Amino acid sequence: MMQLHFPDDEAECAQRLFDAKWPNGIVCPRCGQRYFYSICSRRYPLYQCRTCGHQTSLTAGTVMEGSRTPLSKWFQAIRYLSAGISATQLHRLIGVTYKTAWLINHKLRRAIQEADRKWQLSGQVHIKGIFYAERRFHPSIYFHPREQPLLAGATVNRQGLPVQVKIKKVLKTETHYRSIHRRDGEQFLKNHVESAVRSQAHCTLHRFGNAEYVPLVALCKHAFRWMSDTFCGIGSKHLQAYLDEFSYRYNLSADVDSFVEHVTILAANTRKRPYSWIIRCHLFEEEDLISNAA
Ligand SMILES: [Zn+2]
Repeated sequence: MMQLHFPDDEAECAQRLFDAKWPNGIVCPRCGQRYFYSICSRRYPLYQCRTCGHQTSLTAGTVMEGSRTPLSKWFQAIRYLSAGISATQLHRLIGVTYKTAWLINHKLRRAIQEADRKWQLSGQVHIKGIFYAERRFHPSIYFHPREQPLLAGATVNRQGLPVQVKIKKVLKTETHYRSIHRRDGEQFLKNHVESAVRSQAHCTLHRFGNAEYVPLVALCKHAFRWMSDTFCGIGSKHLQAYLDEFSYRYNLSADVDSFVEHVTILAANTRKRPYSWIIRCHLFEEEDLISNAA
């Protein structure tokens, strides 16, 4: 495991969160004024508007809201997420319970997923049908129930190499051994590719594709290897969160510092979600994306 340094000083972490949450200073959400008293009697400062008395805490409206885990551990977790580690590893590294480590990782993944919904692939886009299996099985000529059909889309450069990528689950019910359903391909285009370039996208929904798609397939296999080596495979329920985490890291070109900076800003500006919401996992299902795109 690489050595990742982050301040363990709570005050410095609080300042980092403040900067990520209010890069231009605090603005009162109620009256729009910029003048605040800071009340330091609590673990992290509380800010009170000088005009209307509205109070806002540092962690309100962030993924850390209500968490008893010190900010320094959250920041260490963000740092370690840049290396793609599991909750088991995180729990040992930062000294929190396994459940806390699992929740921290998932809350950060959710922030990444919410950010992912706000942009679409542009430029020359390649899309390829691909099948993920959590565990090995005996291949046959039939679609295997353990296989999760996916669509991988990428903005490619002149050499045809993926620069920005999105890998998404598709509906299983209408998938056949050789191909993903056309409707899922159309939905992927609508949800994840900018309208101006949709008609020029190169797309194959088939399990087998020509040489053009080799780099994209290789990238997906890299993601599958990471999920298998680090987590012993990922079940269908949480698969999308892990695929989005992988893609987010890839899209930031594996630059640790920019990853940490981006995730810190996401964490500071994404509402926390309760445990029940995280394990429910419905938000990013296809129906929701459809209503979102409409
Ligand atoms: Zn105010």
